[in-house]
Amino acid sequence: MRFEISKVLDAIEGRVCTDPSLARAVVDLAEVIRYQDLDGGRPASLLRLGMVIDALARQLEEDSVPVYAIVHRALLSDADLTSNERMVVRRWADDGLVEVLDNPGDRMFEVADLLGLPVLSRARADGLRGRYPWLAEQPGRVLAPVPGPGGPVFVAHVGKGDTPVAGDPSPVGGKLLARQWRCPEPGCALFGGGGGGGAFADLARVDRSPAGQPPPSLRGGAPTCPRHGTRLGDAGPRPRTEVLAVRIGGLIRRRFVLSEEQPVVVGRAPEQTGGITLGQWLNDEARRWISRNHVRFELRVGEVIVTDVSTNGSGIRPGGSMAEPDRIALKPQQSRVLDAGDMVELYPGVQVGRPGELPAGAPYTPTSVMAEAPTMAMRLPRP
Ligand SMILES: [Zn+2]
Repeated sequence: MRFEISKVLDAIEGRVCTDPSLARAVVDLAEVIRYQDLDGGRPASLLRLGMVIDALARQLEEDSVPVYAIVHRALLSDADLTSNERMVVRRWADDGLVEVLDNPGDRMFEVADLLGLPVLSRARADGLRGRYPWLAEQPGRVLAPVPGPGGPVFVAHVGKGDTPVAGDPSPVGGKLLARQWRCPEPGCALFGGGGGGGAFADLARVDRSPAGQPPPSLRGGAPTCPRHGTRLGDAGPRPRTEVLAVRIGGLIRRRFVLSEEQPVVVGRAPEQTGGITLGQWLNDEARRWISRNHVRFELRVGEVIVTDVSTNGSGIRPGGSMAEPDRIALKPQQSRVLDAGDMVELYPGVQVGRPGELPAGAPYTPTSVMAEAPTMAMRLPRP
């Protein structure tokens, strides 16, 4: 049983990140962990984060929906957690997957403001409405997770609604995210030099690169490390990025960030670090057709270039058209610029494109972080 719980925690680990391009909501980790009514279980349980992540995925009708978790430092030594859970949170902190702060204060709402994300919390933030007008004006920006029939559901603080809604990054957020920042504190997991991360950085499921740095905290108008309280140095323009998504069987299974620094390979089981592994979602025929490394994406001068690196080739669906005569073959070793609306089709029903341009329209069959966990071992790329 203990073994399976650690697998669930591994699955949850794949859904926490501080990458502005991937996080879909902000949560107060301590609040979620201590929300006993959610499952009527122990006073504190890290598994409740998985329940909230699953609920968010249900609402957004996507798999693999990551959350931006902020947590008070005291949680690292919370005796109500198991020693394994404490160790896991410490590892997330070391890898910069979560923000562990001495004084979280209003950081949760600041991050939501800077990134335009919804907040999942029961905390009333009425006193912050002057600073963050969207708290009062945009229903769906702050929702409380509450117990529901099949797991947590969300209730909007303002107006009616149960669906988290993203806004736009605030103007100051846009400016902060245009630059790279450097924390003077050695080994800072959030704003460290060259890749950051702890001892397991290479194994981190979410890449850390300057392109994925969290938003600085603003203190007295100055960009500040939320962890160390130190003034951040400006390390130049942030690398350009583009978010792409994998859609399989009509559903977005996973988003990934393409930056100018590193191409990303998508395939059945790519060898490359940061490659996108599709194997776990494929049926036998698709598995036979799709190569281990199938397509490579690069971002060059703002354009997404796709290159087929497979044995069997791919296709382009221009403007997302599913009409067969429109399909353009992408033969092995051929490259093409991915224009607005274009999708790459690796196999019928297996597509990659920009998430906003991938048509929805399939019954939602999510992969739960809780349920998938016992099969995790089968889903690791083969050595
Ligand atoms: Zn720092």
